Amino acid sequence: MERNLKSSERKAYIVSHLEEALDKGWVIPYYQPIVRTITNSIAGAEALARWIDPNYGCIMPDTFVPALEEKGLIYKLDCFMLREAVRLQRERMDAGLPVGPISVNLSRQDFDNMDMVSYAGEITDKYGVSRELIELELTESLLVRDKEEMTRVVKELRRAGFSVWMDDFGSGYSSLIFMNDYTLDLIKLDMGFLKSFTRTSMEIMRSAVNMAKNLGIRTLAEGVETEEHVRFLREIGCDMMQGYYFSKPLSGEKMEEYLLNMGMPAETIEWKSFYDQADAFVINNEIPRAIMEYDMAEDQIHYLFINANEREQLRSIGRAHREDSEFVFNVRNNPLHVKLLEFYNHVIQSGENVTMYISDNSCFVRMDGKLIAKQENRCIFLFSMINVTKDRTQKIGDVLSKSLSDIVLLFDDVHVLNPELDTADNLINNFGIEGGFRDHDPLREGLRRFCKHSIYPEDRERYWAFANPDTMIERILQTSDGVERDYFRVLLPTDDGKEKYVWKEFNLLLIPGSENQKVLSCIKNSGPTGCMPCGKSGIG
Ligand code: C2E
Ligand code: CA
Ligand code: CA
Repeated sequence: MERNLKSSERKAYIVSHLEEALDKGWVIPYYQPIVRTITNSIAGAEALARWIDPNYGCIMPDTFVPALEEKGLIYKLDCFMLREAVRLQRERMDAGLPVGPISVNLSRQDFDNMDMVSYAGEITDKYGVSRELIELELTESLLVRDKEEMTRVVKELRRAGFSVWMDDFGSGYSSLIFMNDYTLDLIKLDMGFLKSFTRTSMEIMRSAVNMAKNLGIRTLAEGVETEEHVRFLREIGCDMMQGYYFSKPLSGEKMEEYLLNMGMPAETIEWKSFYDQADAFVINNEIPRAIMEYDMAEDQIHYLFINANEREQLRSIGRAHREDSEFVFNVRNNPLHVKLLEFYNHVIQSGENVTMYISDNSCFVRMDGKLIAKQENRCIFLFSMINVTKDRTQKIGDVLSKSLSDIVLLFDDVHVLNPELDTADNLINNFGIEGGFRDHDPLREGLRRFCKHSIYPEDRERYWAFANPDTMIERILQTSDGVERDYFRVLLPTDDGKEKYVWKEFNLLLIPGSENQKVLSCIKNSGPTGCMPCGKSGIG
């Protein structure tokens, strides 16, 4: 056993047996899974060396790494570990298994004692393994000490196509500013932060993550051991997690078992940049924001991230948990679901920021969405729902009762008209989707403009008779059900960027309590398809 040897004897043994250990397979790579926080999927693994000695049993890196470094031999171990990682990738690819990146530890001496940059390139080429499948970890102390030389090395490795990570960030004397000196792909927050897990260490992690985000550097927390750690890292937007909470380092065999039996999905390299793009928007700032993943084929949406302020907004709409929102969003045949579908489609097609107002749980809600990434049938949106009921109640609370506000959800376009004052207030305007609430637009002028630009020429005369503000209230009062209703063809943009006329149902009703002064104008699709080829009538 190891403890039977004195430290000096142990070191001598390691140094004199290194070649044998490498040749005879005493040194083997173990792998520790790395988990992507927003998806909870295994997004890679770190290779960690184990020395299973026939005489002394399992020897850990904290014993043999310093011994080898002392004698300038660590590069032999690192080359071996790198080659094993590359070979494993080749094997998995040949076996048709999914592959994700493996990260390998390098030492300072690897760049002094040999040309590690060239070796890494040669070994990946030899096995025909894409360099994005290998990530290289350099320790913080190394990067701090030899800044000039290491800047060159980091640049070359990245130019060659490898991701370069800073290991043990925060363990030494580096400052956050220091991140700016290197272009790194990721920093690994030292496990000391989670070990102590004090207010201070949490604050440091939070600001390191924010700072890294601003610089376009991804973040990983090491030493994740508890549920509480996971919750905290999710909250601050740390991209990746690694630690005993998920798994200890495992032999190749055990790692296969883990992948099969853990029930955690594995993220393959094809999806890496898709989710990396999402991670870039995972920011816990003052602005309410969420990241959503939408499966277009399944018509299913779920949250990848919600920041504290957005959670507050959802709570104010009456949804305490993200699951509550997800449930409501995914209920088919629900008017909200239909509205959301329309919203997603606009978001996907426009590529711009899209705003839409809806009525949700008797609240007025402004939705903002923007497409972040799209691959196959999956999309990632930046998304927020902001409860604007308070802002709006002053304006519309007096004209709309609570129950009426839910009716509004069924329509594409809702205005409050006041023929006497000649005003129109826009509650929901999804024709232009950019449905802002503008105060007291001139009613008659607006109707004329709408008639001229949007109504099918053959329908214009009929429309004008219907929309005539001078007779509107009288006509509504004469109807049997209190709703003046008719159908007209309206010019709308289509998915392919063209325009076409679509049948719409127009409804005019008096707003209760407005003393026959105010009219609610609601417009929606006329039939199940809402669309009939122009020229055909057949409406009823
Ligand atoms: P490291 O790169 O910071 O690796 C993380 C170490 O933390 C690993 O120890 C791992 O087993 C351990 N660890 C992982 N999750 C947890 C956790 O949740 N809690 C705790 N308490 N520990 C956790 P390991 O494998 O003993 O490696 C120690 C160090 O040895 C590594 O630190 C790395 O610097 C070095 N090392 C390991 N393999 C190699 C190698 O092939 N080449 C070089 N140059 N260094 C290596
Ligand atoms: Ca490491
Ligand atoms: Ca580390």
